[in-house]
Amino acid sequence: MNTKKSHELFNEAKRFIPGGVNSPVRAFKSVGREPIFVDHGKGSKIYDADGNEYIDFVSSWGPMILGHGHPRVISALSETIKGGTSFGAPTSLEVMLAKMVTEAFPSIETVRLVSSGTEAAMSAIRLARGYTGRDKLIKFEGCYHGHSDGLLVKTGSGAATLGIPGSAGVPADYVKNTLSVPYNNLAATEKVVEKYSQEIAAIIVEPIAGNMGVVPPVQGFLEGLRKIATRFEIVLIFDEVITGFRVSYGGAQELYHTKPDLTCLGKIIGGGLPVGAFGGKREIMNRLAPEGDVYQAGTLSGNPLAVRGGIETLKILRQDDVYQKLEKRSRNFCKEIEGIFRESGVPVRINRVGSMFTIFFTDSEVLDYFTAKHCDTESYAQYFREMLNGGIYLAPSQFEASFLSLAHSDEDLEKAIKAIGGAVKSFKA
Ligand SMILES: *Cc1c(COP(=O)(O)O)cnc(C)c1O
Repeated sequence: MNTKKSHELFNEAKRFIPGGVNSPVRAFKSVGREPIFVDHGKGSKIYDADGNEYIDFVSSWGPMILGHGHPRVISALSETIKGGTSFGAPTSLEVMLAKMVTEAFPSIETVRLVSSGTEAAMSAIRLARGYTGRDKLIKFEGCYHGHSDGLLVKTGSGAATLGIPGSAGVPADYVKNTLSVPYNNLAATEKVVEKYSQEIAAIIVEPIAGNMGVVPPVQGFLEGLRKIATRFEIVLIFDEVITGFRVSYGGAQELYHTKPDLTCLGKIIGGGLPVGAFGGKREIMNRLAPEGDVYQAGTLSGNPLAVRGGIETLKILRQDDVYQKLEKRSRNFCKEIEGIFRESGVPVRINRVGSMFTIFFTDSEVLDYFTAKHCDTESYAQYFREMLNGGIYLAPSQFEASFLSLAHSDEDLEKAIKAIGGAVKSFKA
């Protein structure tokens, strides 16, 4: 693998951008090497500045469910761009995307478009607080809801950790209302809710966790949260920024038959352009300005180009057998991977829902942040480097999801399986 140009670019980047990257995990720090600089992508593949080809299982962290440069998306974007890129005024395109979102998610009666998942989660929480007139918030350890102050809470052990900032620069005062509870632990959630019942505005959860690696909800977890939220008149927020349009057209809430009060979306709904959204019950959403007293705004919100990327992507995803196809391919792929590891004696656990999955380097079940943290991250780093050398691009961290797209062919998956076989051999030495 040649990485001369990437190396030069990274050195130059470090002169002008802190750490050389615009989002920390891109720096490859936890896998012990320098990042590749991407030149372009096509279908299931990306190509770096050094001319190497990789089969891409990161998919821009989720959005590229159709693969890179899908011809229909590119042609739609080309058409839209000719009419101008931003007006800061209403356009018909944003109405169309909003309508498509409400059709996909029966729990979403109205939806507000924003430009990132961070904004979606931050705004949904402000809205929940405005609506309930309460301040406290429950989030789950290992769940990520973007980098707004109140959600950057260090995940601690124990039943509930009162907000300790997970980043310098976040005043303790900003997170004192954020209560952190272990994922998949309904009993711990109940305890916290009973203690603070009249003060809790919202419970926010990734209905399938994707940001500690993939951790599906145990049976009864989401239904249990729904019951608790209803009983104590707490706003239940599903952060479906990854899972929305990923695990099924109607997201995790469709898959697990549980309706939240508010839903956060992002990633896929922009089709690779910056779009986020939050929506839900009309009664709650009507509290947003200009109807109501909860302020929220954005210069580029509903941006025509970004919205068109989403519309065209959803139009393709809405076709009949898309999710069955993704499910079947992902299931077979993961089964083969499991077989290779089993034969090799390298212990892993694979968690998967539809086309999102994580290979955890551990010998015990991964159910929450505590068990995820138990993984052997050194082994993951070695696996990552071997795979990269073999032309397979994975997330540069154990605690992320891999994604299959509609563009991954049988040939791609066979090549990936071969590379895994090779990578696993390196563990025996
Ligand atoms: C990616 C992600 C976010 C943040 O979205 P950005 O567009 O990166 O701001 C929020 N919640 C979840 C579940 C995510 O996966």
